[in-house]
Amino acid sequence: MPSTQKLTTWAGDSERPAVRFFRTTVAPLFLMLVTPPAAIVFWIVCTHLDGSLQRLFTTGGLRTAVDRWPWPTWRAAALIAVFLAVQLVLLKVLPGKSYDGPLSPTGSRPRYKLNGVAAFLLTLALFLGGSCGAGLYSAGIVWDHFGAILSTIIVFALFFCLLLYYKGIHRPSTGDHSQSGSFVFDYYWGTELHPEVLGVNLKQLLNCRFGMMGWPVIIVSFAAKQAELRHGWPGTAMLVCVGLQLVYIFKFFYWESGYFTSLDIMHDRFGYYICWGVMCWVPAVYTLPAQFLVMSPVTISVPYAVFCAVLGVASIWANYAADAQRQRVRATDGKTTVWGKAPDVIRATYRTADGKEHESLLLASGYWGIARHFHYVPEILLALAWSLPAGFNHFVPYFYVMFLTILLLDRSVRDDKRCRLKYGADWDAYCAKVRWKVVPGIF
Ligand code: NDP
Repeated sequence: MPSTQKLTTWAGDSERPAVRFFRTTVAPLFLMLVTPPAAIVFWIVCTHLDGSLQRLFTTGGLRTAVDRWPWPTWRAAALIAVFLAVQLVLLKVLPGKSYDGPLSPTGSRPRYKLNGVAAFLLTLALFLGGSCGAGLYSAGIVWDHFGAILSTIIVFALFFCLLLYYKGIHRPSTGDHSQSGSFVFDYYWGTELHPEVLGVNLKQLLNCRFGMMGWPVIIVSFAAKQAELRHGWPGTAMLVCVGLQLVYIFKFFYWESGYFTSLDIMHDRFGYYICWGVMCWVPAVYTLPAQFLVMSPVTISVPYAVFCAVLGVASIWANYAADAQRQRVRATDGKTTVWGKAPDVIRATYRTADGKEHESLLLASGYWGIARHFHYVPEILLALAWSLPAGFNHFVPYFYVMFLTILLLDRSVRDDKRCRLKYGADWDAYCAKVRWKVVPGIF
């Protein structure tokens, strides 16, 4: 019996009222109150407190935080607006194949343009060309204004999420929209799955071309600032840290069509959780190891640098290979090989809200036979690899790995719930074959 795919939120009806209240009100409120100031505090710690979170809790540290608290500026707003406008133009103008994303719960199929690699290379070329080439600005410009940039984008994104909330209710782009009845939850989670404005898919523009494309520009600027402060080249630790992140981000754009089949796009509505997250949390937190290294340079040995680089590249490769495996199996309807053998697949069925029945392949061999989200292990290791060059004297460069581990473990649980709702007994059959969520024998 095919399962009907519901437009899910993680506010499941079967939850006890107290659990539901915690998940839909207390936890979102807590996150929305804590994450914006935390993003700024990390910047203060890296920039003004020598990367020491401990110093923040001294009288002098607290005083510094208050005195140096960055506020939004028009200059920062202009930098952000120019960057967003450039990304919009690159998305629209650069050639690229059209890609039809997966079917949504109500049966709509969003369309994306695949020109991420060209946009990534051109963005970096434009940024470095404008600074090192034409001398229009210093390559450290993002570092110089980073506090104000974060502050400005945080305020903007908070208002923008409010607009998204109203758009989802009054002018939804597709049938994939709904309200839970709780303003807090709907603002946090979003009311719409695939919002579009003037034909522009907002998830592709803001997740991929703003958040993910801003990340490389930010870290390259951080490396340039460190080079300026050292009157030479960036140190080895910074080179390994930034180099690995650039490889990872390049991989992201190379695999952009795969991202459109990820939970961020297929499942998570476009509210504070995703939209504020990609616009503010990614620049503030994902860049922390490089942010830390600008003012607290670390000297590392060549063998240690090689170890970090090899660990990072191998993990990026394994993560990519796992994502590619499931995409390839589905694209070929199982007529391919996985680790040299015919893939072990389950033909799972589900229904969309219009009552139509569909079929999906669940891969139960290769990486997807080790555990149901084994690819999260290399994702965590690659983040660890670009944090290790920052040494072991401070916690701040490791905050991202810690956050990512919690995020991915939570995600594996959420994805299980979503897939059980979607595929019913077929998902249970997959779970019977592949018992563990992430790490065999542990979780
Ligand atoms: P996944 O790659 O885990 O994909 C989950 C979806 O894949 C499921 O909802 C289901 O969707 C389908 N699926 C599940 N099991 C199988 C199977 N056995 N065979 C085929 N398809 C299956 O999604 P994520 O969004 O969590 O991760 C995507 C990538 O992004 C990963 O590489 C991850 O590491 C990375 N990531 C990075 C983060 C970061 O902040 N750095 C955060 C989160 C993810 P369907 O409805 O199509 O069946």
